[in-house]
Amino acid sequence: MLRLAIQKSGRLSEDSLKLIRECGISFITSSLKLKTESTNFPLEILYLRDDDIPGYVADGVADIGIVGENVLVEEGKQALTVEKLGFSKCRLSLAVPKSDNYKSIHDLNGKNIATSYPNLLQAYLHEQGVQAHIHTISGSVEIAPSIGLAEAICDIVSSGSTLISNGLKEVERVFKSEAVLIANDSLDEEKRRVLDKLLFRIHAVQRAQKAKYIVLNAPHESLQEIKDLLPGIKSPTILPLAEEGWSSLHSVVNEDDFWEIIEKIKDAGAQGILVIPIEKMIV
Ligand code: ATP
Ligand code: ZN
Repeated sequence: MLRLAIQKSGRLSEDSLKLIRECGISFITSSLKLKTESTNFPLEILYLRDDDIPGYVADGVADIGIVGENVLVEEGKQALTVEKLGFSKCRLSLAVPKSDNYKSIHDLNGKNIATSYPNLLQAYLHEQGVQAHIHTISGSVEIAPSIGLAEAICDIVSSGSTLISNGLKEVERVFKSEAVLIANDSLDEEKRRVLDKLLFRIHAVQRAQKAKYIVLNAPHESLQEIKDLLPGIKSPTILPLAEEGWSSLHSVVNEDDFWEIIEKIKDAGAQGILVIPIEKMIV
């Protein structure tokens, strides 16, 4: 039985649970419960505050966990990063009041900076050769300048709208983060085996998220050109249509080059293009 720690309630919770479910792992959730056991996979889920997850994994109370890299590095606990999960992408940034005539990081010398991430901030300031007073507060960091607690803040930003609505502007990016799967560094063989099984499923889910199944019709004279544009997993599938001189072509394309490929194959003569999401992809 492998023990997975995830955030009980917060920005990581929903996507963490979604990933586990997409891996075909079933369990019953209840907002009151602190742990649940899967009904079809040797996994137990512990619901914790995200700040506690690196420590619990390092101590072996949980075997694996899902946490933001920002919290993992801030906590400085000994845990292995097994996989980047691609969700909860954000950055830790320095921000100052909009009216501030900020020119460079050296403007922060001797200033007060409020943050919930003192270690990450300290490491960054040290690297930049800046000495400032760090005020560690656990929440509502963005209001610190307006109440006179600090001249600058260092906080999590994704779109930047929270900064703007508090009259602040982002001036430096301190750390880039996303959710990661972490593991205790001395799992026994049985737990390691369950983790490998879980990772195999996570990879299938991740690959599928990036890929689209594409079906199109093409006249025979365009087939070669379209085939060259669509690599597929091995190579595209080509099936004859009932209509003479036409074929149906099936393939898989990567989301990143998706629109570019669609335009090219259309120009090459493809018609009736269907794009279908893929649920799992095992190569
Ligand atoms: P807890 O009560 O568990 O301590 P918290 O309030 O510290 O929760 P959340 O705000 O739920 O934490 O954020 C959890 C993690 O989600 C952060 O550590 C960060 O990695 C990521 N995160 C935070 N804000 C955003 C955002 N705006 N967009 C995307 N990811 C974010
Ligand atoms: Zn937290």
